[in-house]
Amino acid sequence: MSDLPPIDIEYISSSLIDLLNIPSPTGFTEKAIDFVAQSLTDFPFISSALTRKGALVATWDVPDTDSPRALTAHVDTLGAMVKEIKSNGRLKLTKIGGFAWNTVEGEGCSIFPSEGEPFRGSCLLTKASSHVHGAKVSELKRDDDNMEVRLDERTINDDQSRDLGIQVGDFVAFDPRVEVTNGFIRSRHLDDKACVACMLAAIKALKDAGLKPSQSTIFHFSNYEEVGHGASSGFPSNLDELVTVDMAAIGEGQSSDEFHATLCVKDSGGPYHHGLSQKLRQLAEKKQIEYKVDIYPYYGSDGEAYWRAGGDVAVALIGPGVDASHNYERTHQEALIATTQWLVAYLLS
Ligand SMILES: [Zn+2]
Repeated sequence: MSDLPPIDIEYISSSLIDLLNIPSPTGFTEKAIDFVAQSLTDFPFISSALTRKGALVATWDVPDTDSPRALTAHVDTLGAMVKEIKSNGRLKLTKIGGFAWNTVEGEGCSIFPSEGEPFRGSCLLTKASSHVHGAKVSELKRDDDNMEVRLDERTINDDQSRDLGIQVGDFVAFDPRVEVTNGFIRSRHLDDKACVACMLAAIKALKDAGLKPSQSTIFHFSNYEEVGHGASSGFPSNLDELVTVDMAAIGEGQSSDEFHATLCVKDSGGPYHHGLSQKLRQLAEKKQIEYKVDIYPYYGSDGEAYWRAGGDVAVALIGPGVDASHNYERTHQEALIATTQWLVAYLLS
């Protein structure tokens, strides 16, 4: 049997569910970052600071060590922004992050005005009613022009919507619809909140067992990953290694699944660091953590953002398998436990 300390799955699940229910499209992540900062106050040996860009950098300083490492996961999610207030009072959106409009069609959403409480609405096709538009409902291309937000407010023109306080540039968050059944966690934005919860749980597992990392470790909670530059900054200049913790992509031709953690060896940005990837494989084998190895065809990570920004460190990527990524996602608690065990094994190595 593995000699790793126990992982608290109840802690992972409750942290994850709380975080999923905090709207945090990229650019609007303060509350999600606050939640993580608050969670870290349970670990007084960790010091946290915000970067000027709004990421959270938490450091577990281990005296007399000289090869600091980092883990990074992101709290920002897909979402949208009000692009235009239409003459019918509805809202045209611009996407934040890479997703297809059909994945949010019919979804409830919140619109965050610059002042006051959020408004509610739903993201619909402009020709939504089958009784009115017939075949066009299935034929119409799902694009920026053919999707709109129907506000749950009495408005039929642009002036009325503006009078409510809605403006171009207001953030829009799609409802996560979190549900837990038989160990499956179904929600939007498991990418990457699942991994944020795993990082917190790894810290807790070490603390509960009276252990500490073998090197000083930076726990980096990024807030601009979905647009490509989250972890481009926020690390010390003497950083030695960076393990990006982000979801694994499941689908036809993929080896990842919802019950394991995956080591990604290559994605759209090319191969990850072979030496660090090998080290993670060996650790998983030694600690009897079953894992997958995979390649993600349309995927970039915050580790690569750091590389592109000039980060001269070894970078690898692990994370739980997430079905239907950037859609209505799902994973299983087993994958979250495996990811956390792998992080713990790495921190202790
Ligand atoms: Zn992600």
